[in-house]
Amino acid sequence: MKILNPATGAVLTTVDDTSPEAVDHAVATALRAFPAWAAIAPGDRARLLHRFADIVEDHADELATLEIAEAGHPVGQARWEASHVRDVLRYFAGAPERLIGQQIPVAGGVTITFHEPLGVVGVIVPWNYPMPIAAWGVVPALAAGNTVILKPAETTPLTALRLAELALAAGLPEGVLTVLPGLGEVTGARLVEHPDVRKICFTGSGEVGRHILRSGADQIKRITLELGGKSANIVFADADLDRAAATVPDSVFDNAGQDCCARSRLLVQRSVYDEFLARLEPAVAAWRVGDPTLESTQMGPLISAAQRDRVAWFVDGAEVLMRGACPSGDGFWAAPTVLAARDGTEAHWREEIFGPVVSVLPFDDEADAIRLANDSDYGLAGSLWTRDLGRALRVSRAVRTGNLSVNSHSSVRYWTPFGGMAQSGLGRELGPDAPLAFTEVKTVFYSSEAQ
Ligand code: NAD
Repeated sequence: MKILNPATGAVLTTVDDTSPEAVDHAVATALRAFPAWAAIAPGDRARLLHRFADIVEDHADELATLEIAEAGHPVGQARWEASHVRDVLRYFAGAPERLIGQQIPVAGGVTITFHEPLGVVGVIVPWNYPMPIAAWGVVPALAAGNTVILKPAETTPLTALRLAELALAAGLPEGVLTVLPGLGEVTGARLVEHPDVRKICFTGSGEVGRHILRSGADQIKRITLELGGKSANIVFADADLDRAAATVPDSVFDNAGQDCCARSRLLVQRSVYDEFLARLEPAVAAWRVGDPTLESTQMGPLISAAQRDRVAWFVDGAEVLMRGACPSGDGFWAAPTVLAARDGTEAHWREEIFGPVVSVLPFDDEADAIRLANDSDYGLAGSLWTRDLGRALRVSRAVRTGNLSVNSHSSVRYWTPFGGMAQSGLGRELGPDAPLAFTEVKTVFYSSEAQ
């Protein structure tokens, strides 16, 4: 597979894909490694994850450089991503010692529950945040005592491959974490079909997510899905309009809009619609798009020419309210763009674009805002801006979404649960319960009858 630098379009390197037979071999190796990894003393598993975190920290600059090169992420963001992997490792390193079951009183004995690891787990990830999303699946699965096979996206396997080497250097036994680059329909599909892979933790498009759910049905495979989003950003007239407007670019143009939590539907109360757009304009114009290796850059290129064409398709023929600047020439560039929606039926309002595009629609009152926000197949993230506490409580409970920020656009913290409602996914990642999703509960009754 040719790996391109999206900022220039040049070939960075080539990586061998993984054949179905090689997947089978890797699964057999992971299966052999499983009993010892599951049986290791919890404190020892914790120590190995901490050592892995130390080594990731030592190699943070190198990992960030790889992420800039293969994903086009701005240097500040890429550094954050490497430190995020370290933090996820440290957080879940506490989990092996906290896989705590229950003791439930019953007549004639006692019942105890155990959280048992599943076995071999497959983690399939997209290209938009290659390192963080890989860590969200891999690390809690390892912490819970599973062995893991990670399938990175076709365009971004380099950081994943490096992380596998660092895991070995940290002392994780061979077969505990394996990275298999390859095509989704070949390498990924074999992982999903393999009877010895007990769970698939998938992040990516709805289309592939549905396919995986169907493929796993015969084996009743454990499957969690983190899919797309079309999140609403609701601005009420009583909000701090300056703050709300100033944060719109970051809420949707960050990572060039290739973010499942991007607030790509902006709902503004009609009474302040014009005033709000006037405040938004300078913020969009000031968004700095360009060379990802520069410290000053806020947004790099899109991942591929195909993604650039997809974004252009949605913008073509739409009513453009604002358009920022972006480089021309080589590389897969798209300009930050604000589009007007008229009635919420437009493709750019309804479908996930996965580019630096936000659509704006006015609303009349609270009920109207809730109705419009919920009129979507998705339900991943969202924001609402208001100074009215009662309204914040009402609206945050009424909007059907897995993650919501009030007077903020933050979405993901590794120590709080994350995941989608409706067609945005199935299950939750991160937070204190994440390792439990990589276990089965076993309930054992011990009779106290004399034998
Ligand atoms: P994608 O679905 O095309 O690919 C994701 C992964 O699945 C890749 O590794 C790919 O190789 C693999 N794959 C493809 N076909 C497969 C198959 N038949 N069997 C097994 N694996 C297969 O998605 P993408 O284009 O890489 O990523 C963009 C999508 O990911 C967007 O829709 C975005 O919203 C979503 N996403 C969701 C979250 C979340 O947490 N909810 C986070 C990031 C991205």
